[in-house]
Amino acid sequence: MSGARNGGPSAVIVGGGIGGLAAALGLAKKGCRVTVLEQADKFGEIGAGIQIGPNAFHAMDYLGIGDAGRARAVYVDALIMMDGITGEQIFRGPLDAPFRKYFGNPYAVIHRADLHSAFLDACRAHEAIRLINKERVIACENTGKGAVVRTEAGNVYEADAVIGADGVKSNIRPGIAGDKDPLRLSGHVAYRAVLPIEQMPEDLRWNAATLWAGPKCHMVHYPLQGWRTFNLVATFVTDDKNVGSNEPGTREEVLSRFAHIVPRARKLLEVPTEWRRWVLADRDPIDHWVNGRVALLGDAAHPTYQYFAQGACMAMEDAVCLADKYEKAGGDFDAAFKAYQEDRIPRAYRVVLSSRELGRIYHADGVERLVRNAWLKEKTPEQFYAGMQWIYGGNGLAGSGLRAAA
Ligand SMILES: Cc1cc2nc3c(=O)[nH]c(=O)nc-3n(C[C@H](O)[C@H](O)[C@H](O)COP(=O)(O)OP(=O)(O)OC[C@H]3O[C@@H](n4cnc5c(N)ncnc54)[C@H](O)[C@@H]3O)c2cc1C
Repeated sequence: MSGARNGGPSAVIVGGGIGGLAAALGLAKKGCRVTVLEQADKFGEIGAGIQIGPNAFHAMDYLGIGDAGRARAVYVDALIMMDGITGEQIFRGPLDAPFRKYFGNPYAVIHRADLHSAFLDACRAHEAIRLINKERVIACENTGKGAVVRTEAGNVYEADAVIGADGVKSNIRPGIAGDKDPLRLSGHVAYRAVLPIEQMPEDLRWNAATLWAGPKCHMVHYPLQGWRTFNLVATFVTDDKNVGSNEPGTREEVLSRFAHIVPRARKLLEVPTEWRRWVLADRDPIDHWVNGRVALLGDAAHPTYQYFAQGACMAMEDAVCLADKYEKAGGDFDAAFKAYQEDRIPRAYRVVLSSRELGRIYHADGVERLVRNAWLKEKTPEQFYAGMQWIYGGNGLAGSGLRAAA
């Protein structure tokens, strides 16, 4: 049996994604000895972009890697929404100095690998964190004084607590949620590609996170990696019920779903030679993420559609909250887990449920589309800030030590 190292409380974290590494960093900073078990051959992230709100930077600041995250990000000027039928701009949310002053941190886009490596570097540098890859956890149980996990390779890791940060198809979750909570398929599929800047049509090389909204589909593009590449995500509604992630996808399928979209935007979908596809799913809310000394975090707890671009941001917030509760409880995991789920459940599920609604708004048709356009065109920057305060302010973590919005 490994993992139960001497001296002070210990935790095993299952999953070395952004959520798992953020939790490792947070707990280690509060004096816990952490072992992270990752099933993949190496710690890393797939090659695509991610948007991160000011609340993610608040969380990274708390975890001591804010500067590393800010140094790797691209700062877009605005969030833009275009009507995919007419090609007109229907919303522009500025992300300039007033936005940063209001929220105390920027909005940015970043390559996933760059974000993940900021966490990985900090975890590697921390003497209380042990990172072990090629360890797929297949079972987890409470022992009375802690919890234990078993891996496919036949190894056993015991600690005072186990945190399941093993993503949307978590192996830890069934022991907490039972089988009452199957994945809820939206019928939405996302295609992703990353283009070298030279392949991006010049008239779309905007320094913005741009979303083209069309009936039953939308696409998003933004610059990445110091403007060397552009990230492209094309999402559409389908009857496909096979939950797959990171599978190859065909240009023909994506083009056929965007046939009704204005040529200026559609032509962008003809450029990528390689697409990867994801069938999107979330889960209905449950009222507990804890069973004894085992807790869930990130997508394992609250997978969400990407429409608010908040899944990874929420995983980081979870990690900060857990670390803060652990410190306040003096290292008592029972008290820390209880306080953690009480704080996080309403906030994380507000994002999950609101994201479902936002998907409907993005994909609106007919009169709903006209209502959406009229409503969004009216928004002033101040109304945009106020509308996003509940997310970007990180206020759900009040008292956790996060920087408050200005
Ligand atoms: C198309 C798309 C776009 C998105 N855009 C954004 C965005 O712009 N902004 C944003 O904030 N979020 C976005 N998200 C959401 C974001 O990707 C996730 O919410 C985030 O990655 C969750 O992190 P996590 O660490 O909880 O889980 P994951 O990233 O899934 O990490 C889980 C880790 O656990 C490992 N693992 C799984 N099972 C086991 C096991 N049994 N044993 C050991 N290890 C295991 C996995 O290999 C993986 O490394 C998007 C998602 C999608 C699909």
